[in-house]
Order: sequence, then C-alpha cells, then structure tokens
Amino acid sequence: MNAVLGQLLDETGQALGDAIRRTSPQLSAQEVGVVVETGGGIARLRGLPGIGANELLRFPGGVLGIAINLDPEEVGVMLLGAGEQLSAGDEVSATGREADAPVGEELLGRVIDATGRSLDGGKPPRIAERRPIERPAPEIMDRAPVSTPLETGIKAIDALIPIGRGQRELILGDRQTGKTSVAVDTIINQRDKGVICVYCAIGQRGTAVARVVDTLRRHDALAHTIVVYASDDDPPGLRFVTAYAATTMAEYFMEQGRDALVVYDDLTRHARAYRELSLLLRRPPGREAFPGDIFYIHSRLLERATHLGDDRGGGSMSALPIIETQAQDISAYIPTNLISITDGQVYFSPRLFHKGLLPAIDVSESVSRVGGKTQYPAFRSVASELRLSYSQFEELETFARFSTRLDEDTRKTIEHGRRVREVLKQHEHQPLRASAQIVAMKAVDAGLFADLPVEDIRAAEEQVREHVLAAEPELCERMEQGEELDEDDWEQVLAAARETLGSSRDAED
Ligand code: ATP
Ligand code: MG
Repeated sequence: MNAVLGQLLDETGQALGDAIRRTSPQLSAQEVGVVVETGGGIARLRGLPGIGANELLRFPGGVLGIAINLDPEEVGVMLLGAGEQLSAGDEVSATGREADAPVGEELLGRVIDATGRSLDGGKPPRIAERRPIERPAPEIMDRAPVSTPLETGIKAIDALIPIGRGQRELILGDRQTGKTSVAVDTIINQRDKGVICVYCAIGQRGTAVARVVDTLRRHDALAHTIVVYASDDDPPGLRFVTAYAATTMAEYFMEQGRDALVVYDDLTRHARAYRELSLLLRRPPGREAFPGDIFYIHSRLLERATHLGDDRGGGSMSALPIIETQAQDISAYIPTNLISITDGQVYFSPRLFHKGLLPAIDVSESVSRVGGKTQYPAFRSVASELRLSYSQFEELETFARFSTRLDEDTRKTIEHGRRVREVLKQHEHQPLRASAQIVAMKAVDAGLFADLPVEDIRAAEEQVREHVLAAEPELCERMEQGEELDEDDWEQVLAAARETLGSSRDAED
C-alpha cells in the first residue's frame, strides 16, 4: 500500500505527499533500512516500506537525512550532514519524526544551522520547541491586507517602492550590486521597530556570512535577529532545507501575533541545491536543468509569508527573497518564477552601481504592488509625484545626451531630477527614520536645493534633515504617527529647512 502511495507521490509531487501525511499517521518508527548507494549528499535506501515523505532518518555516526523520493523499490534521501563515511550496506533507522527546526526566543542573537547547531562558537542554544519545517501556508480566510509599513530606512525604497509588513518583495540583480547590503540595512532598521528578523544565508562563503554577522552586531541589530546558515561546503540537502527552517523560525513569531521578517540570501543558490539533489536522485530535469517543480517549491515557501487577520493574532511575516541574475537577464527561468510569485521587486542595476549611484536601485524596473497603501500619509503626499517625475527624468536625461539645445522646461526637469537623484543616494548601514526621509524629499521637491551645485547636495540634505529633526520634533513625531500634515505644517518644515541652508551659506560667505 505504502509503496503504491510512494510511487504516486513521486509522480504527482509534494501536494499529494502532504495529503497522505495528514491522513496516515507515522507508521515507520523503529523501522530499519539499508543504504544501497550514497554520494554527493544523497543516499538511496532499500526497505523502510512505511516511511513518510519528509520523515527524518538516522544514519550511522548520527548523520540525519530526510526522505524525499518514495519509490516502490527505493527511498531517496537528502543528507543533512557529511556523508563521506557512509557506505552501501549501512543500516538506517526511521525516527517517526517529520523534519523539523528549533523555534523560540532563545535563538535570537545566535548563528545556527537548520537543525539548531551552534555556528557562532557559543554554547548550543537551549531548544524548548521544534516545529516541522514544511507547514501549510495560512488559509486565505486567515489573512488580512498589509496595513503597516515595513520601514527599510532606505530612501529610494521607502519613498518610491514602499513595502508593507506581510509583503513578499523580491530583491534581484547581478552579483555585487548591493543586494545583501539593502537586506542587512532593513534588518538594522528594525532595531526599534519590534520586527524580529531571520537572515537565512544559503550556500554563501563563510567569510561573507561572518561579515554580515559582524555588521549586525556593530549596529546593535543581532539581538533581534536569528542567522540561519548553510555554507557552500554543506551538502545540498542542508542548503535546501535551510530556507524552510528559517521560515519556520520566523513563523513562530508571526503566530504569536508579532511581526517578523525573513531574508533569503539567496534563492538562486537554493534552487541550485534543489537541482543538485534532483539530478542525483535521477528526477527528470526540465528548463535550465531545474526539476519541474521548482516553481511550486518556491511558491509554497513564499506563500507562508503573510499578514494574519486579527482572529489569528494579527502577526505578520514579511519576506525578502534575493535572486542573483546573470548579465541582467531578469527573464531567465528562476527570476521570472520569483517575480510572478512575489508582490513586487527591487531591481539592482550594475550600470548604476558602477556610476556610484548607491544604492543602485533602478526605480523604473522596480515595483511594489501592495506596500503603497501602508506608506505614511505625509510620506505619500511628497513621494507620490516623485516616482513618475523621476522616471521621466531618467528617460529625458538619456535623450538629452544626444541633443545640444534643450528648451528651458526640459533643462529644468533634468536639473531637478539630478537633485532628486542626489537626495536618493545613501551610504550603506545608515538607515533613516521615516520623518528624516520625508523632510529630505520635501526639501528637494520644494526646490530648496535648486541653486546648489549638484556635488554639494548630499551634505546640504544631511544638514537639513538633522536640523529639522532637532527643530521640529513634534511635527516629525506626527509624520510617523501616520498623521496628515496641512499646509501650515509643511510651511513650518520648509521654514526650518530654509533656515539651515541660509545659515550654512552665511557661514561660507
Ligand atoms: P553578491 O552578489 O556578492 O552577493 P551583493 O549584490 O549582495 O553581492 P553587496 O555585497 O551588498 O552586493 O554589496 C557589494 C559591495 O558594494 C560591498 O562591498 C558593499 O559594501 C558595497 N555597497 C553596497 N551598497 C552600498 C552603499 N549604499 N554605499 C556604499 N557601498 C555599498
Ligand atoms: Mg550578497
């Protein structure tokens, strides 16, 4: 019976697998099988007729594996630990336990792997509870629209591509364009926002992860963060399940009515780990040699991120999956899949990166489909026009390069656009609170920097921000409380801003 189910499962994918798991209790505890073949991070076993999909198996030496292929003849297993010492003939025992990950407060501030092993040199974390790594996403009935901003602290995103708590926003771009940096800054900015973060590093080099951990620590952001990590040396099975373990860890907080954020850095490497496993398990390859169900795998993972309705505690889990593109090809298989699964994307352009326009976000290629509604009203009133005019400016600027004589209007639009672009520049790891961003946007929008040379704008913008924040704390507070500002309020903001510029110019004279 189970063998037949196993074959069906293999043919129809995991959905059926879940249905089976839900209807038939775990039967396999204490069963024993034998390794037929092993290598590359997988093992194929004989025996174990009662095994369930996603069940944990124990190999000699304590190595764990997860059953993923259930054929009538054979069970395919991905290993979660080094499998070099395993060989044909070894005995394997079923645990009767579904693959799970540790969850809880104790994991905050720690660097661990998917199974809860300490990777930061500290004591093993105290694990009070474990939950399955594969869990069904909340029902539509249990979900609520996103209503609160997930503030990244990055002007280009919060102003022009605003994200809400519970949203899934893809971060994509070629290698070395600043993708990780933006995700890390978003985590740093949650320091005083009460959002618990999980940074999930998949298949990265150890030094890269150490750098992220160090940055988080230096910016007081590790205490509200869990780092879950599988390196490029780890077996593909561990790299693959890390994304699920991270999701389960963040979900725990969402289900307590709290807000969580999970960063997957990155899902390109996650997809590669799955491809590696599938090829080793001799599943038929599809487009770009990825197994046909990779789309399903990613959509199921990201479906778990949402904003729960009040009946379910009102918590949220936002997701920032990262994808690395090759030669800016966003129409390759994995990027197109992810674009269609998420609620928008932030696209990083190597062209902008090399011009030093950091963060190198290409606004015209980026979109946020649901977060706009969560933007603070005061922010929306300054930013709504900005996005369109900024895109127009970018087009005009390219066009203007080929023309020697420009009419006055075009010249003005270009000059203004250049100033907006200066204001959108931001150094990494310096996220800004919303009111500071609103002040900066308002100042450039009102033309306060129109007479300044472009190279002086960044310094002027910083002065304006700092001065207005100090001079008008009450107004700034109201902006962040979600209040609308009336004309008098805005005039007060601009007066304070002009004061700064006036005094700095006096100082120069
Ligand atoms: P990879 O493809 O290697 O994962 P990535 O796209 O994640 O790269 P990052 O590692 O975030 O890119 O950034 C690449 C480099 O650019 C880093 O050295 C980082 O310090 C620098 N950088 C990124 N954003 C900024 C910024 N806003 N200001 C200054 N430097 C930046
Ligand atoms: Mg990176």
